[in-house]
Amino acid sequence: MSSSTKIIAIDGPAGSGKSTTARKVADKLGFIFLDTGAMYRAVTFLALEKKIPLSDSEALQNLAASMQIEFSDDSEGQRVSVNSRDITSQIRTTEVTAAVSEVSAHAGVRRHMVAKQMEMGEKYDIVAEGRDTTSVVFPDATLKVYLVASIEERAKRRVIDFQRMGKITTVQEQIKAIQERDDYDSGREHSPLKMTDDSIQVDTTKLTIEGQVNKIIELFKEKIGE
Ligand code: C5P
Repeated sequence: MSSSTKIIAIDGPAGSGKSTTARKVADKLGFIFLDTGAMYRAVTFLALEKKIPLSDSEALQNLAASMQIEFSDDSEGQRVSVNSRDITSQIRTTEVTAAVSEVSAHAGVRRHMVAKQMEMGEKYDIVAEGRDTTSVVFPDATLKVYLVASIEERAKRRVIDFQRMGKITTVQEQIKAIQERDDYDSGREHSPLKMTDDSIQVDTTKLTIEGQVNKIIELFKEKIGE
């Protein structure tokens, strides 16, 4: 961020409601929505397509350095393109979801993604969400939020997300997948998921999306003294 831009940074575990909430907060405030997870998913999709081993730090780092990621909006939400190719649906498959934590654990991959994210924060008012937006990417964010929800609730949300994509899965399967990903993301050496001391925790287990959005806007207004 620069001294003139405003940043709301939202971190939290998988399925805590970050994307939906961040997008709607951004719409309401007229800020840019930055889905940092989509960036790591885009690298992962390309790595799988190019059959790069997920342990090959150098090849993954080069891939991250060379790719052009772009976000655009349509009536159904945000679209993600890489090197001018739309990969919005491809980055949400179970294959990408299962591999993304391993790819994003490489310091070289993170360095390139974080640089792109910081660059955006220099230019625009942003609502960013991910795992390290409050700790590494935007340590001076105007407002930092850590979203949590019970694992059962998060798994139920994932089942519904998958249903919308035409894929049937169970709450038990999603509890296992979410737990594995959270453990990996929290336990990694570089930029692990954690709540910073200056983040405000918001539990979304019993909140509606509207409730979550209003809560964050309220916290933001308090921060800027409105
Ligand atoms: O939020 P989403 O589920 O799309 O994130 C996918 C994965 O990308 C996470 O599980 C994590 O491994 C990685 N990620 C990250 N840092 C971020 C955002 C996402 O490491 N800021």
